[in-house]
Amino acid sequence: MPKNILILGGGTGGVVAALSLAEAKEKFGLDYEITLVNKTEWHYMPPLWMDVALGTAKIEETRAPIRGLEKYGVKVVVGEAVNIDPGNRAVSLADGTTLGYDYLFVVLGLRNGWEAIPGYAEEGYHNYSPEGALEFNNALKQFKGGKVVITVPEVPFRCGIYPMEFATVLAYKLSSKGIKPEITLMSPRMPNGVDITYALGPDIKRLWDKYFNMYGIKVRTHDGIEKIDGQRKVVVTKNYEEPYDLLIKVPPPRSPKVLEENPEFQKDPTGRFIVAKPLDFRHPKYDDIFLTGEHSMPPTGLGTAGVFIHAASYRATQILLSDEYGVGSPGPIPPVACVAYVADKGFLGVCEVTFDGQTHMWSGPRCYNVVESYLMKMVKHAFYQGWLDRLRL
Ligand SMILES: Cc1cc2nc3c(=O)[nH]c(=O)nc-3n(C[C@H](O)[C@H](O)[C@H](O)COP(=O)(O)OP(=O)(O)OC[C@H]3O[C@@H](n4cnc5c(N)ncnc54)[C@H](O)[C@@H]3O)c2cc1C
Repeated sequence: MPKNILILGGGTGGVVAALSLAEAKEKFGLDYEITLVNKTEWHYMPPLWMDVALGTAKIEETRAPIRGLEKYGVKVVVGEAVNIDPGNRAVSLADGTTLGYDYLFVVLGLRNGWEAIPGYAEEGYHNYSPEGALEFNNALKQFKGGKVVITVPEVPFRCGIYPMEFATVLAYKLSSKGIKPEITLMSPRMPNGVDITYALGPDIKRLWDKYFNMYGIKVRTHDGIEKIDGQRKVVVTKNYEEPYDLLIKVPPPRSPKVLEENPEFQKDPTGRFIVAKPLDFRHPKYDDIFLTGEHSMPPTGLGTAGVFIHAASYRATQILLSDEYGVGSPGPIPPVACVAYVADKGFLGVCEVTFDGQTHMWSGPRCYNVVESYLMKMVKHAFYQGWLDRLRL
């Protein structure tokens, strides 16, 4: 009987795992079935939701049909996983179906935990969902000037560069419409006392400083956001209050409910993330389960960003192929490259991680800026559209 590999989640990591296993199956003539379950018909590329908010992309350009995986020999089920029963190797879907497995990849991303802060769900705009990006775009079209506040409530947050990237692009966009940007980035205090512009090290910090100085973008460090007072239009923190005209919000990251509420999945000490074994991304108790989604990156020492989820998902498939079929090559995690916007340009950053034998976690990242140019903005578009084109029918 061929083994049955089940992948839950058709986002960045789920698609990487499915394509890696499909490629190995064909290349080495292996005998297993790959099934991927995704909640919607679409595979989304979340970084492009920023373009939707800014009016430079349509929702259709941020996604591809998840059934596009079928041409690679992956069986696709559109449905919502509502329970995972590791003892019986069974996954229940919302429509009542039960799926069994020999190996399970859990790659379900993170959810937006707006409920963590009073008033956060009701106030402000964001591009952490397609619907949010469309609402945000409407608000930006109406915006005629005033004080823009970008709130980052806690670390880690989804994508270590996003708030700074967005601040510089918005500043450029408002300036080119003749609106003098007045932007404040509210950063949580990092464990060593600094703000999040330091998060990826001195080289990337220098890049942010250059553009923040150019556009007068301010950074204020807070000790925790207590609530958003929508009537007074004020962000209330433990150490100060910040008034706003336009509030742009980054969500507190929380694990998907199907994992958060399941006692078989252990939470890390913060209660926000799901524990995976750092070196091979396996479930601490069940060796047949790999946890390579964003929900499991912080407990391994990796960041909550697509580039790390890509590396983790690929590595886990190579470990499985090596252990089960003797063909995988799970080498060290190579440097990951990230293309992002900065004001009117783009940049290519590279981050290195190493496995620390003492802490038994991935350490770093050590990041540097390789190139900053107009060309990199086009490279970002080309990269994401090329990624999605693999699934477009
Ligand atoms: C605005 C924004 C900008 C970003 N910019 C960058 C960037 O520049 N660089 C970078 O590296 N990363 C960036 N990221 C982060 C990156 O998008 C995520 O880290 C990555 O997509 C997470 O991969 P994942 O596979 O774990 O989850 P996701 O890509 O979120 O996919 C999860 C999938 O699981 C499905 N799902 C969820 N629950 C269920 C369920 N119960 N049953 C079935 N299916 C389910 C969802 O429908 C989804 O398809 C950004 C994110 C955002 C929001």
